[in-house]
Amino acid sequence: AEKLLIRSEKMSIAGQLAAGVAHEIRNPLTSIKGFLQLLQAGINRNEEYYKIMIEEIEKMEKITSELLFISKPLTDLKRPESLQEMVNDTVNLLQTQAKLKNIQIVVEQPIVESIYCDKSQIKQVFLNIVKNAIEAMEEPGKITISVQNTNDYVNIHISDEGPGIPEEILHKLGEPFFTTKQNGTGLGIMISKNIMEDHHGSLEIYKNKEKGSTFKLSFPKELKKISNDVP
Ligand code: ADP
Ligand code: MG
Repeated sequence: AEKLLIRSEKMSIAGQLAAGVAHEIRNPLTSIKGFLQLLQAGINRNEEYYKIMIEEIEKMEKITSELLFISKPLTDLKRPESLQEMVNDTVNLLQTQAKLKNIQIVVEQPIVESIYCDKSQIKQVFLNIVKNAIEAMEEPGKITISVQNTNDYVNIHISDEGPGIPEEILHKLGEPFFTTKQNGTGLGIMISKNIMEDHHGSLEIYKNKEKGSTFKLSFPKELKKISNDVP
């Protein structure tokens, strides 16, 4: 998908997505068709074919379910939600995956702030980012979640001890389908950015001094006043 996207800098997000989806779905389809044709011809009834076809189908399932999430209409009204609760829910969901890799997820201090949001969407953002952090870390270590207040914003920092993000690819993060992972979809950061923008907030990525990266999520404190979603 990479080559496809380099030329598409001026394309709309919708255009990039459509091009990406077509590309990402066509490859597995071509491969499944090929294996079915082999099986139909009865040339070589290899059990391995079934395994590969199922993997290709799972790839498409993963992409389509993430895309369905994007197209989900924002019917839920935003309301004040406890950040601590949303962070806890996310950490609980990912705890098993983290423990398997000897990674500790630490919430630095109690988070007392509430933000005005669609809870399931913001939980999805936390999930995408903490999951990336776990996936990035090849060695045991710590993922730290902390909160920092400014006059206008509540900032949540999610910091990992992974290898960090190479300068050359930093600007590509958030492009649909950009992934460096074997089984990645490259949709997590794009979806998260969109959700943050929809909440009049932002997502920024920093390189840590020591090692790893920090993802900073900023939520405006006065969202209620600028939002159209107030009933
Ligand atoms: P995916 O996880 O499916 O690859 P994402 O949009 O979530 O898609 O992430 C895109 C890419 O950004 C990843 O493939 C990885 O290269 C990079 N990335 C994201 N988070 C981190 C992180 N915490 N540390 C290092 N690289 C990261
Ligand atoms: Mg991801």
